[in-house]
Amino acid sequence: MAGAFWCVVEDDRQGRPKKVTAELIGEARRWGKELGAPVEALWLTDKAETDGLQQLAAWGADRVWLWEDPALAPYRGEVWTPAVAELAAKESPRAIWGAVTSRQRELLARLAARLGSGLAADCVGFALADGQLVGTRPVYAGKLLSKVRWRRTPWLATLRPNVFKVAEEQSGRTPAVERPALAKASAPTTFVERREEAQTGLPELTEAEIVISGGRGLKGPENFALLEKLAGVLGAAVGASRAAVDAGWRPHRFQVGQTGRTISPKLYIGCGVSGAIQHLAGMRTSKVICAVNKDPEAPIFKIADFGLVGDLFEVVPQLTEEFKKLKEKG
Ligand SMILES: Cc1cc2nc3c(=O)[nH]c(=O)nc-3n(C[C@H](O)[C@H](O)[C@H](O)COP(=O)(O)OP(=O)(O)OC[C@H]3O[C@@H](n4cnc5c(N)ncnc54)[C@H](O)[C@@H]3O)c2cc1C
Repeated sequence: MAGAFWCVVEDDRQGRPKKVTAELIGEARRWGKELGAPVEALWLTDKAETDGLQQLAAWGADRVWLWEDPALAPYRGEVWTPAVAELAAKESPRAIWGAVTSRQRELLARLAARLGSGLAADCVGFALADGQLVGTRPVYAGKLLSKVRWRRTPWLATLRPNVFKVAEEQSGRTPAVERPALAKASAPTTFVERREEAQTGLPELTEAEIVISGGRGLKGPENFALLEKLAGVLGAAVGASRAAVDAGWRPHRFQVGQTGRTISPKLYIGCGVSGAIQHLAGMRTSKVICAVNKDPEAPIFKIADFGLVGDLFEVVPQLTEEFKKLKEKG
């Protein structure tokens, strides 16, 4: 069976790939080595910096397929999909992988429909059985893990961020860059208005190594400032439960859970979050889970590695002070 492993680049919109791309390439390299397949990056962007291309090569991309065109930003599924589908028809890749991000989730689903191939969404692991890849993905809000196999290539999958090891850097590699023509998109939508997200100055929720989530226990939007202070000290992102989002305390892009973002940080700290199953669906694969809740019976304590029974309005400022002191000590 021929064909490369393709990894769709998630970039920072400034011309450089994000860390999650290193995770895709790292995992693809692992299986590419086993199966004797090259690993290639697909980058659709309006701006690719030279050091961004070099970074992809350093992570181990044997080739970069680069579409650099103003029509590609911001992302529109009906413009990106034909470009990748047309190249896939010519090159017959063995696998096409993307990250669990808003745009790549949509792109991979569209590609699966276009290519008549199966998509394993939200994968957290892979294995080989009889020379075929098997993907592991959580189902029923993370209560069970299912194993899926593809009937035909390309094997399409989205990979959950912060689960897979980032590719080891190999210095001195230069990227082999191919620039395919951009396939004509049929009836693309046009932009009427574009609004930029307000910058929080904190890391992005799905990329952050530490996430502090706030729930209804915060009692009001102004109290998220407590979590932001702690986040500032720890270099963490701030997330929210759906109850907090539904109350209008945080925008939906900060929601963690089944109908929000899926995160898998090294450390998750839930403050005033009860731990409903739909919330757990979005964070239960975090490496270490801590919870601050005044109710010792709160369900979140069942999955927490460390639990603090107490009033978050007392506990969170104390934690902030203690972490600050520790940091100052170095
Ligand atoms: C189809 C569907 C999809 C859903 N998707 C999501 C989703 O994606 N994400 C999500 O989060 N939820 C989701 N939900 C909602 C979910 O079921 C819960 O209602 C929600 O997660 C509860 O949010 P919460 O923990 O902030 O609030 P609550 O359940 O009200 O919990 C608040 C917690 O704060 C504690 N508390 C109160 N005051 C303090 C204090 N001073 N100090 C410390 N602790 C305090 C309380 O003891 C309590 O445990 C979904 C529900 C449905 C039906």
